[in-house]
Amino acid sequence: MDVDPQTTTKGKEEQAEEKKGIMVILVGAPGSGKSTFCQDVMKISSRPWVRVCQDTIGNGKAGTKVQCLANAATALKEGKDVFIDRCNLEREQRADFLKLGCSLGNVHAVVLDLPAKLCISRCAKRTGHEGNLQGGKAAMVVNRMLQKKELPKLTEGFSRITYCQNENEVQAAVNTYGSLSLLDSLPSGVFGQKNSESKVQLGIMKFLKKVDGPCSAANISQVSVGNKLHNENNIALHGPESGVASSGNAGAEVKDFEHAPSGNVVNEVTDCEHTLSGNSGNEVKDCDNVGEKVKDSEDIVMVPREDTCFSDDVPTLAFPSISTADFKFSIEKASDIIVDQVQLFLQKYHNVRLVLVDLSHSSKILSLVSSKASQKKIDTSKFFTFVGDITRLYSQGGLHCNVIANAANWRLKPGGGGVNAAIYSAAGEALETATKVRAGSLMPGKALVVPLPKTSPLFSTEGITHVIHVLGPNMNPMRPNCLGNDYTKGCRVLREAYSSLFEGFGSILADQNKLIHESNQEQVLETKDQSELNLMKQFSLTDQKGKRECVNEIEMSKKCKGPRKESESDNTELLNRDDDRSTKKRDESMSKAWGAWAQALYNIAMHPDKHKNDVIEILDDVVVLHDLYPKAEKHLLVVARAAGLDQLADVRPEHLHLLRSMHNVGLKWAEKFLTENESLVFRLGYHSAPSMRQLHLHVISQDFDSKHLKNKKHWHSFTSPFFLDSVDVMEELSKQGKVTLNNDERYLTKELRCHKCRSAHPNIPRLKTHISNCQSPFPAALLQNGRLVLPPNKLSASKSS
Ligand code: AMP
Repeated sequence: MDVDPQTTTKGKEEQAEEKKGIMVILVGAPGSGKSTFCQDVMKISSRPWVRVCQDTIGNGKAGTKVQCLANAATALKEGKDVFIDRCNLEREQRADFLKLGCSLGNVHAVVLDLPAKLCISRCAKRTGHEGNLQGGKAAMVVNRMLQKKELPKLTEGFSRITYCQNENEVQAAVNTYGSLSLLDSLPSGVFGQKNSESKVQLGIMKFLKKVDGPCSAANISQVSVGNKLHNENNIALHGPESGVASSGNAGAEVKDFEHAPSGNVVNEVTDCEHTLSGNSGNEVKDCDNVGEKVKDSEDIVMVPREDTCFSDDVPTLAFPSISTADFKFSIEKASDIIVDQVQLFLQKYHNVRLVLVDLSHSSKILSLVSSKASQKKIDTSKFFTFVGDITRLYSQGGLHCNVIANAANWRLKPGGGGVNAAIYSAAGEALETATKVRAGSLMPGKALVVPLPKTSPLFSTEGITHVIHVLGPNMNPMRPNCLGNDYTKGCRVLREAYSSLFEGFGSILADQNKLIHESNQEQVLETKDQSELNLMKQFSLTDQKGKRECVNEIEMSKKCKGPRKESESDNTELLNRDDDRSTKKRDESMSKAWGAWAQALYNIAMHPDKHKNDVIEILDDVVVLHDLYPKAEKHLLVVARAAGLDQLADVRPEHLHLLRSMHNVGLKWAEKFLTENESLVFRLGYHSAPSMRQLHLHVISQDFDSKHLKNKKHWHSFTSPFFLDSVDVMEELSKQGKVTLNNDERYLTKELRCHKCRSAHPNIPRLKTHISNCQSPFPAALLQNGRLVLPPNKLSASKSS
């Protein structure tokens, strides 16, 4: 039997008391094999599994989520292990089960992320399905549900997530769970996840046309699952599972959709696979899944997680095991030290997370640490282990870590191998330079905090704001300063190393916290916009005890070799426009409040001379630049240069002159572009709640032809009332002395409609295809009051019509 090597088998007596139930939440579309998975595990397992299945729970009728929760609760109380066998594709659907299982500290997800075509094919062919989802309707249900798919994350409260993207991986997971004895546990972390691009699934139409899908050779990668390397090359889809639609059912169904006029409601889809048991038009019970109606056939495109970046995650430090690889420190001893130091840190700090990372699934240190941490009952939401590349935790694993630790060398130089080489290479020269100005070398047992410059790719793509270099003891005679076998000293130094590392993380939190506190006070005085306060809360610690101790931590961290406070370094360049001390302090605080990533426009506006390559025009009161991620063929930003004017909410009557100036500059550029390309049409306006600091006017062509326009939020931010036309803003300010913002988030989540003809579209690619061909005129409201900037010939035509 193929057992996951990370299964930790402890001494029987030691563990007899420790048997902990597991809740496994299956995540997968209808036809992905959830029920089969459960049954296969239960056939070979010696553990007392109970399968809670919404399709069967109602004795022949469609069950409800509430029934599932009740059954799961009973089973857990009886000491059973539980499978939650429902689709669970959305975070919200999983939340109640996670809540129920969280007392176990042992809730796992098994994601059956198989190709859509395979799931559809299976559903289409099955007969006598428990949930009665079979035959031709399957294609629509699977497609619809997959569109809503939100892959599970550890941050939801899972201690372990296993991804299976082909049948070999499913079998490996069956073996892992099936061979788990009563006293075994599985290590925490994410296993088997490929890069996020692989989430793009094949659309139904392509499937039916038998186009090669994501299983084509180009996408094949070698992945490690359990203790085996499975080469996906060997995986052939064949027989009834081949994914090739054999006969008409699914096809006929899809054709119907394609020709269904939009707005023809067919059905609502639920997690429970009963959904389409009857005729079209059924309303479904327990509809915890999809609130939307099915309107059209759709290609399934999972949008990359761009706009989930920098969400309000708990401040997180990811760190590799120090000294256990190249420096050959005993893994057994190191794991004790890690768990002790983590425990000490978590006693002091509350709203934080620590994550021990290793590249390898078969990492011994990860499994030792996770089993020792679980013995010490360390909260798994605050400390867990994670398999992945420490330089790609967010982009590949969905785990946002603000700070990462580097197992550095004493010279603080790139090179060598392992983590040090990987981090320097991923962070680019910026890290080397930033490190150099802080220290030239590092002693064993010490840590050095380095704020990551915004120019570093690690900052922009992973959201990492700091790297903490840390040097541990060396027990390897082939490396400098070997301690021989002196583990008394070795353990002391390793303890110091972790303690300095965590203190360094504490000092970053303390800095953030202090600035937030000051900023909050100023905010109250200035009655600033609530969204700023929300942003500032991102890093705030939960209690006063934490705050006091954070301040102490700063003092302690000063003893570390050279870590400068971030405020001394990163923000100084931002400040020379105002030398007044309080303004300076406010600016520092506001830089924090907006987050470092949101400062780019502010920096450019304050120091355009330092950003000559970015700006295309510098005037006394504004600078003009190309939007770095243009959402249309032409997209400029006209940025105000006045300090203290972060966004439209800050605008007062005295700024009217400035707004006019911004408008006129924008207009001039739009007209310039129109002389080059007469097919363009422009709109000038502001976002009600901008993402970037410093008041800026968007000058954007209305083709929205851009690869950067990727999601609903992007679309609605330029086409819903969230976008305020510059002409309207000026008019309201001059007449009312204020600007009314439309910053209700709901504007950004509405269905996708063409900005001209208002037709609805299921997803961004389809919308883009439509707008590239839409010949309809712009709505009348936009054609009035100079809201649109048109070429002279179209202007007269629009006036006459
Ligand atoms: P808003 O939501 O109004 O704050 O829009 C900010 C705009 O700034 C977005 O359209 C971004 O694509 C753009 N942007 C973000 N970073 C930069 C940058 N470094 N330089 C220029 N534009 C940027």
